[in-house]
Amino acid sequence: MIIGGGPSGSTMATHVNDIDSVIVEEHTAVGSPIQCTGLVHPRVVDMASASETILNTITGFKLFFPGGRVLEVSSNDPKALAIDRKQFDEILSDHAIENGSKLLVSHRFEGFKRVGNALKVHLSSSDGPRYMNTSLLVGADGYKSMVGKSAGLNACRETVRGIQTELDICLEEQDKVEVYIGNNIAPGFFAWVLPCGERTRVGLCVSRKYGTPNQYLTTFLKRRGLDKAKRVELNAGVIPIGPPKKTVTDNILLIGDAAAQVKPLSGGGLFLGMRSAKKAAKVAMNSIAEEDFSERSLSNYEGAWRSELGKEIERGILMRKVFTSMSDKKLDKIGEIMDRDDVKEILATGDIDYPSNLAAPLLKTVPSLIKFSPHVIGQLLRR
Ligand SMILES: Cc1cc2nc3c(=O)[nH]c(=O)nc-3n(C[C@H](O)[C@H](O)[C@H](O)COP(=O)(O)OP(=O)(O)OC[C@H]3O[C@@H](n4cnc5c(N)ncnc54)[C@H](O)[C@@H]3O)c2cc1C
Repeated sequence: MIIGGGPSGSTMATHVNDIDSVIVEEHTAVGSPIQCTGLVHPRVVDMASASETILNTITGFKLFFPGGRVLEVSSNDPKALAIDRKQFDEILSDHAIENGSKLLVSHRFEGFKRVGNALKVHLSSSDGPRYMNTSLLVGADGYKSMVGKSAGLNACRETVRGIQTELDICLEEQDKVEVYIGNNIAPGFFAWVLPCGERTRVGLCVSRKYGTPNQYLTTFLKRRGLDKAKRVELNAGVIPIGPPKKTVTDNILLIGDAAAQVKPLSGGGLFLGMRSAKKAAKVAMNSIAEEDFSERSLSNYEGAWRSELGKEIERGILMRKVFTSMSDKKLDKIGEIMDRDDVKEILATGDIDYPSNLAAPLLKTVPSLIKFSPHVIGQLLRR
């Protein structure tokens, strides 16, 4: 039984074969409310076989420093795609159903009881409580993960709060995403302007200690000259950062945002969640074949996702630590040091799913960057 009909839950259900799986989703349908910018590497659209969701192709970015300097990076390759996230979730859900999974909407996971070697799961709906038995309970239920909480699996290390509005305007420049950093703009994270053809997504996240992101969005829209544009959508969400120590226990495993499988620097979670969901599906099929749902058996999943993705996440946490420790003055100084053609060439080779691969070549080209945080950067280079 998979709790959560988001991308991680649907991807897992698509990759378990010849198994009776059920996806439990608390909303009346999958795909809403949207809590995402929908910016992904093209590989994510391939993984989902969802090319019809593509709204725009991004080949570069403009990084705005607090003092006004702009670092513009261009590439000839598609670096990212802006997608229709609602349609993306619906397509993934359709794949899961085509693979034989049942989708139970308007049902909310409330908790479970252990009964022998299985679990009795308590769901609620407008018709009242409902109980179902399962040997394997998958928490694909997002950053709040009630499954994780009720299983005693620790929460993520940190959360940031985000807000985004979709504007009914078409930007002239369509091939670059704008990224704005600065402690008055989006403290602890960044703001973005993403051209999506006829519409434009503008949003930002802030570290929890800086309050709600709404006030920052109002100021940012004004600053960017977009405050008069018609807002067609507004959505808010939370990004979990730093996976818990354990993502499995007897009969239970966590995937996606529930396991904080999210890139700490950018907050992107679709790639990591879907990759991990595929690994979880493989381990689940083995456990079912061997009728072994013990933590020992399910820890093959823990090992598999951490060995592929854990290092990138840990390096992302260190990069985030350096980033969040910077004053605006230091950020501007970094902007000044990096405003060079050779640096931009390195940045143009970047992959949004593996940002830490840029750390070594950047530090080799601009060794003076190390002085901004020698201890943490040293740790980063050792990993
Ligand atoms: C502002 C913002 C912008 C983002 N932009 C990007 C981006 O550009 N690119 C990117 O890759 N990622 C982005 N992300 C992150 C991305 O949205 C998540 O990583 C992704 O949605 C995780 O998928 P998931 O399936 O693990 O969880 P979710 O998409 O959160 O799905 C969880 C599902 O579980 C259901 N659920 C929760 N609790 C229960 C319960 N008790 N019972 C039943 N159902 C339940 C929910 O209704 C939901 O459908 C962004 C996030 C935010 C907040």
